Amino acid sequence: MSHLPPKGKPDIPIPVVDEGETNEHMKAMWAGQSNVLVAVRVRPLMKHDIVKKSCVRVLDAKVVVILDPASGDKQDILRANRNREKQYAFDYVFDPNSKQEMVYNNTTKFLIHGVLDGYNATVFAYGQTGSGKTHTMIGSQSDPGIMVRVMEDLFVHSQSQGKQQGVQYKVTVSFLEVYNENIRDLLSDVEEYLDLREDPIKGPVVASITEIEATSGSEVMQLLHQGNAKRSQAATAANEVSSRSHAVLQVVVECRDRAPGTVANIKVGKLSLVDLAGSERAANTKNVGARLVEGANINRSLLALGNCINALGEKGNKGNFVPYRDSKLTRLLKDSLGGNCRTVMIANISAAESSFEETLNTLKYANRAKNIKTNVQRNVLNVNYHISEYVELINNLRSEIQILKSQIGGSMG
Ligand code: ADP
Ligand code: MG
Repeated sequence: MSHLPPKGKPDIPIPVVDEGETNEHMKAMWAGQSNVLVAVRVRPLMKHDIVKKSCVRVLDAKVVVILDPASGDKQDILRANRNREKQYAFDYVFDPNSKQEMVYNNTTKFLIHGVLDGYNATVFAYGQTGSGKTHTMIGSQSDPGIMVRVMEDLFVHSQSQGKQQGVQYKVTVSFLEVYNENIRDLLSDVEEYLDLREDPIKGPVVASITEIEATSGSEVMQLLHQGNAKRSQAATAANEVSSRSHAVLQVVVECRDRAPGTVANIKVGKLSLVDLAGSERAANTKNVGARLVEGANINRSLLALGNCINALGEKGNKGNFVPYRDSKLTRLLKDSLGGNCRTVMIANISAAESSFEETLNTLKYANRAKNIKTNVQRNVLNVNYHISEYVELINNLRSEIQILKSQIGGSMG
C-alpha cells in the first residue's frame, strides 16, 4: 500500500484500503473539499419486473448506458426523434452481478478511518421502490449489506487503533425512521414521535432517542433486523414489501485520550447510513387513500432532498439559499449534504425496460448530485472532566502523598 498524503493536509491520515479500492476521487475526498461521491448500482432482472428485458448497460464500471425502449416505435410520433441512448458517467457503476462486498468496498469502507478520527460521513441509498436500496444498505442475515459490514469494520479498527494509539473509543448507535414527516425510534418499543432539535455544537439531534453502546457487528446486525421489522411498511402495487419510510442508522464514534489530566480532547465522528423511501411518484404506484397521503409526504421529504441537491449542485452557488428546513429528512441530513461531511450517494436502479422512466429519473437525480461540494473538518471537543473524576484525582493524589510521607518518615527515622 502506498498512499501518499494529500498535499497541504499533513494531519489527515489516508485511509488504509486494499490495493485497487482507492481512486482519485477518494483521495480528493480525503484532502478536505470535495464532491459527493456518486455510485450507481444496477440490480438484476427479477420476478416482479413487468417487462423482463434489460434497457441498461454498464461500461467500465463508470458509465451507465440507458436505451429508451419506446424510441424505436415509429407509431409514437413524440418519441420518434429522441436519441435512442443516453449515457451517464459516475464515480462507480456496479453491474447486476456485483456482490455486496464489492459495493461496500468501493463506496463505504474508505470512510471508516475518517469516522474514527472525528470526521462525519454519510452514505445514502436512493431509488425507486424495488430497486435494491434495502438490499444494499441492510441486506439479509446471509448476505449482509453496507450497514452491517461497516459496523464490523468499525469495531475491528477501533479496537486495534485504540490499542496502538492509547485512545479509547466509544461507539453508540441509534436507528430511526422518518415516516409521514414524523420521526420514530426503531430501537424502542415506545410508540411516540420524537423531536428534532438543533444543537449548536452537535448539529441536528433527535431528542430522547435510544442510543445503544455497541461492541460487535453481530449485535448491530440484530438491532438492525429488529428495527427494520418495525418500519412502517405497506403493500403497494410497485412492491409487496415496499418501505414507505426513510430509515437512518446513526453511529457516533467518540475517541478520547487515555492520558490523565483535567481536560480531555474528544474527537467525535458521526456516520449516518440512510435507506431512503422509494422515489417513484405516487401516480406510478396507483396509490389511493391513506397510501396517497403517505406518498405525498414521502415526496415532500424527497422533493426537499432534490431541491437541496439542486441548490447545492448549482455552479457557483456560494451563499445560495438551500431549503434544508423544508422537511425532516433534509434537516436531519443537513450536515451530510452541503456541510462538514464526506458524503456518498448510491443510486439504485432496475435494469428492466418496465422501469425505464424511473431509472432515467434516478440517473438524472444522481447526475446532479455529482456537483455538490462539501467541506470536511474534524470535530474536536474540549471537555472538562466531570466532578466525580476530580474526586478520584484528589483521592489518588492523597494516597500518593501518604505513600511519599511514609517513605520520608521511614528514611528519616
Ligand atoms: P427497495 O428497498 O429499493 O424497495 P429491495 O432492496 O427491497 O428494494 O429489493 C427488492 C427485491 O430485490 C428484494 O427481494 C431484494 O432482495 C432483491 N434485490 C435487490 N437488489 C438485488 C441485487 N443486487 N441482487 C439480488 N437481489 C436483489
Ligand atoms: Mg426498501
